[in-house]
Amino acid sequence: MKLDAKALRYMSSEDFRVLTAVEMGSKNHEVVPMSLIAQIAQLRAGGAHKIVGGLAKKKLIARVQNMSYDGYRLTYGGYDYLALKTFAKRGTVYSVGNQIGVGKESDIYLVADEDDNQHVLKLQRLGRMSFRTIKSKRDYLQNRKSASWMYMSRLAAMKEFAFMKVLYENGFPVPEPIDASRHCVVMGLIDAFPLRQIEEVGNPGKLYSELMSMIVKLAQYGLIHGDFNEFNILIKSDGSPVLIDFPQMVSTSHINAEFYFNRDVECIRIFFRRRFGYESALYPRFTKDVTREFCLDVQVAASGFSKKMQKELEAYQEEIKNMSDEEEEEDDDDDSEEEEEEAQDIPSEVTEDEKMAIKLRNIRLGNTEETESEEEEE
Ligand code: ADP
Ligand code: MG
Repeated sequence: MKLDAKALRYMSSEDFRVLTAVEMGSKNHEVVPMSLIAQIAQLRAGGAHKIVGGLAKKKLIARVQNMSYDGYRLTYGGYDYLALKTFAKRGTVYSVGNQIGVGKESDIYLVADEDDNQHVLKLQRLGRMSFRTIKSKRDYLQNRKSASWMYMSRLAAMKEFAFMKVLYENGFPVPEPIDASRHCVVMGLIDAFPLRQIEEVGNPGKLYSELMSMIVKLAQYGLIHGDFNEFNILIKSDGSPVLIDFPQMVSTSHINAEFYFNRDVECIRIFFRRRFGYESALYPRFTKDVTREFCLDVQVAASGFSKKMQKELEAYQEEIKNMSDEEEEEDDDDDSEEEEEEAQDIPSEVTEDEKMAIKLRNIRLGNTEETESEEEEE
């Protein structure tokens, strides 16, 4: 799904009021009844109806015919708008530029604040693939009927922001955490290329030991990245590494901590052998090399990303991992129509030239009054 920031300019305050009403209503309704939307938005019934139609046309909400009633649900497009509106209000995002990355479960855009400082906006897109399959199979969502891509994406973004923050504050080389809302995180732009795109380094041994030290230091602080690979390590022009992508981080007290730790180490060993022909007999082992000295995992939990949230997100992530491609193809839920429509053919890797050429198009986000941010916990 592509982020269309331009249309944000043409949204009236009443549009946002109704969009916000749908978001609020979806906290306890999978499909928000029209009457509830009108009630929350506090517009004349006729007025709300008309606006709802307009929002549906713009695909910010989608009409759903239920067994017992008709109503609407928020789409990713609508959720994007609400987050952008919040950022615009806080002054952290003023304009949206080019897309610089697209993962299976995220979209990455270049953005700028009012002073034209460039940042990175990461939008979580959990459930883009096939949420219904997971939902029907697992019981972890049972108590949460409206559990959804929306909630899971929000958890992933909250987690990413919480970890980035403690890591940044403790001097780890990670992007600066700037702002977060709903399923989105705004962070510092790192002028660097993923290790994946680096064909040669001056001193592979030096980089290798820097990366291994980082893995060990993280563990000494109580954390394991969990996806420490050539895609999530950016290399700056001076050769130094920056770590990104934190939604799958785990504590060293996690039941599978040793497995995750050793897998991170193994990822680097394999990559260095294949890419640079570099091999070392020295590499850290969880049992041997990790003595825990700080508890950043506890700090993260204290920041508002609770253990319960961690568990919910982890259950989802496990399920995604286990899901075979076959199941994904079989999955023909009634959301798929829209998802197909929204699917974009964006190349998964941006070439260096393209990346260098990326310039902000300065799409202004429009007026920034109105709309309360709806972020309090359910
Ligand atoms: P995903 O969860 O989809 O893997 P990542 O956070 O790893 O998302 O980001 C995907 C890509 O976007 C990265 O490989 C990198 O090229 C780019 N990217 C992400 N964050 C930044 C950043 N702060 N600065 C520069 N590039 C970034
Ligand atoms: Mg990544």
